[in-house]
Amino acid sequence: MQVLDGGCQCGQLRYRVSGRVAALFACHCRDCQRHSASAFGMALWLRDYQLTLLQGRSAQWARHTPGGKVTDCHFCPQCGSRLFHHNRATPQFLSIKPGSLDDTSWLRPAAHIWTDSAQPWLPLPVDVPGLPGNPDDFAALLAAWQAAPDACRG
Ligand SMILES: [Zn+2]
Ligand SMILES: [Zn+2]
Repeated sequence: MQVLDGGCQCGQLRYRVSGRVAALFACHCRDCQRHSASAFGMALWLRDYQLTLLQGRSAQWARHTPGGKVTDCHFCPQCGSRLFHHNRATPQFLSIKPGSLDDTSWLRPAAHIWTDSAQPWLPLPVDVPGLPGNPDDFAALLAAWQAAPDACRG
């Protein structure tokens, strides 16, 4: 069990989440490039989680995926920082946008997905699994985390 604190860019929204880290991966899909407005997105999945907003309130937007699923995307209403995703099809997981954590020093993605749309200048690590698109099921991402040698599993 880990307890993690984080917040948005402007500082209005602060959160604390406890849970068991189940996966940490980088996603190079165009949606993650857009929501992060950068080269890729990262996702830290927690199970058996408890989320507490210490300060502020998140706004949310429901994203309808091409596969027919719905993800609730939470962000700071003032500065727009994306903080959490909650896929209604996998409610047991909370996906944190881990760049919002106060301590990012331990973050090592255990897999990279959607590498087909990765920025071409970005070298991808050879020692963790890479998938060209979306995994068929997310068990591969959970397994990659379990197999990560220097993983911080709490
Ligand atoms: Zn903010
Ligand atoms: Zn993505």
